[in-house]
Formats: sequence, structure tokens, C-alpha cells
Amino acid sequence: MASREILTHSSDETLELGREIGARLKPPALVLLSGELGAGKTTLTKGIVSALGAAKEDQVTSPTFTLVHKYDHGAIVYHVDLYRVGDFHDLETLGLEDFLTGQAIVIVEWPEKLTLRTDWPVVRIQLEHAAEDTRRITIRDEAGVLSAHGEGPQRTATSP
Ligand code: ADP
Ligand code: MG
Repeated sequence: MASREILTHSSDETLELGREIGARLKPPALVLLSGELGAGKTTLTKGIVSALGAAKEDQVTSPTFTLVHKYDHGAIVYHVDLYRVGDFHDLETLGLEDFLTGQAIVIVEWPEKLTLRTDWPVVRIQLEHAAEDTRRITIRDEAGVLSAHGEGPQRTATSP
């Protein structure tokens, strides 16, 4: 699955897509979720985290103000939201790259706010409003993280 485009017609369908993605993810992996406010990034994350068994869907809430939530029931998952990152003086103090060690899944909303350097395989997901309750979700999995025959880690920087 190098690149795949899916339309979802409800938040439940986006949750279900998140569950499918979570069921295929193996740590370490970096998941970048791009898209405007209300596009469904946090909804998709709920499905991913629950399928990984790290937390239940209703326990996954937006880390907009705290920047990061960690779920570590079984799998270790960091859910990062960089929406408000401009409010911080020093991006270095975020320590985001410290999460990118060990065996974890790191999910980042608003990844375009930072350039992250990592050896980890990256899955890029773009969410767009297509209509009232319809979202166009494009998954780019160049490292083959979500396919059964993945090619393994590639050197990646996340700048656009
Ligand atoms: P983001 O994290 O991108 O800001 P959220 O997941 O927090 O977005 O919110 C998405 C909002 O859009 C929710 O209120 C959800 O109920 C609504 N919604 C409507 N249709 C969809 C859909 N197809 N997929 C995801 N969310 C949807
Ligand atoms: Mg969100």
C-alpha cells in the first residue's frame, strides 16, 4: 500500500479506518496526520490507539494544550498535537525527538509545524473535508509500514 485514498462518510467510518491502520502498525513508526481543524485527525487517532490496545477510544482525547499524551497499556503510543506549538519560545524544549527512540508509535497532528529527523519509517496521512460529513483521507506509506512485506526503515525528514 504505497498510496491509498479513502472517503469516509461519518466519524464512525474514520474510527474504523483508524482501527485498520492501528492493526497493521508495528513499532517503531511515526504517523503524521495533516489537515485543517475538524478534519478528523483526533478521530482517526482514537481508532489507531484502540486497535493497538494502548487505550480505549473514549480515553483518547486531544492533547491540544498539553501537546502530548502517552498511552502505554501494552503498546507505547505518543499522541502529539503541535497546533499550539507557536506559543512556545523554544521548540527544542519540546523534546519531541526523544520520543523517537525505543519501541513506540508516535502520532503527530500538525506535523508541518516542526521538522523532525528520524530513522523511523513514516506513514503520512492527509485528511480533507470533502463534504459535510465526508472526508478524503490519503495514506502515503512509502516505507511499507502498513503492508505485510514492509521494506523497513528509511532515513526521513518530515519537512514539506
Ligand atoms: P481534528 O483533530 O482534525 O481537528 P477531530 O477528529 O477532533 O478533528 O474532529 C472531527 C469532527 O468532524 C468531529 O466533530 C466529527 O464528529 C466530525 N466529523 C464528521 N464527519 C466526519 C468524518 N467522516 N470523519 C471524521 N470526523 C467527522
Ligand atoms: Mg485534533
